[in-house]
Amino acid sequence: MTQTHFGFKKVNEDDKARRVRGVFDSVASKYDIMNDLMSMGLHRAWKAYTVMVANVQSGDTVLDIAGGTGDMAQAFAKHAGTQGTVVHTDINFAMLRQGRDRLLDEGLMLPTTVCDAEALPFADAQFNVVCVSFGLRNMTHKDRALAEMARVLKPGGKLLVLEFSKVAQPLSKVYDWYSFEVLPRLGKMVAGDDASYRYLAESIRMHPDQAALKSLMQQNGFAHVDIHNLSLGVVALHVGIKC
Ligand code: SAM
Repeated sequence: MTQTHFGFKKVNEDDKARRVRGVFDSVASKYDIMNDLMSMGLHRAWKAYTVMVANVQSGDTVLDIAGGTGDMAQAFAKHAGTQGTVVHTDINFAMLRQGRDRLLDEGLMLPTTVCDAEALPFADAQFNVVCVSFGLRNMTHKDRALAEMARVLKPGGKLLVLEFSKVAQPLSKVYDWYSFEVLPRLGKMVAGDDASYRYLAESIRMHPDQAALKSLMQQNGFAHVDIHNLSLGVVALHVGIKC
């Protein structure tokens, strides 16, 4: 049986999705508050920057993959307007439900679908923009997921991958301390779950760095890939243009 990483643990490939589901089932109800606390609000700036770079136009079709609690879908919907379509998707029903409720509270009823990024239930060349924000890290076959994102994009369409990445060297000690000492404690206090936040810290360390992710995108259908490092590489936005 082929093995893969779940954080620092090695697990059977076909067990990873179940474990990831367990993490997000556990944190879904506290996900938004934990994001604000852990990043000290910075995730809002990273996401606002991503939405700006996406440059969604009125009438565009947009796919939000691993869209979770729906903040990106909500922002894209403002730009796509009533002529456009934003599809909000995630593999996890608990996360998607939080997002759907948030969107409804904001008066937005978007098409919402439970689906796996590795096997997207959409026709080829359907979307102008595809976004995956803090989701790719959790996927078992990142190459398959990226190839699927390329497949559903129109030629010339744009993929935005916002994800934790490799921090600049001077920050690495304090970042490690924060990730492994502070985050799990915060998770325990606020969400009653330290293990999920330890997984978060570990999964970030196992995720491809900026250059490796760029080359993975190039191998899976993206002709041109730009890297935007944010907060000294704590996060990187990769922008790929479909060939
Ligand atoms: N996009 C939201 C954000 O930026 O806050 C949520 C990100 S959350 C850290 C990661 C999400 O990825 C979870 O909701 C999880 O269910 C989803 N996910 C993990 N594996 C997935 C897959 N194979 N396909 C689709 N979504 C997946």
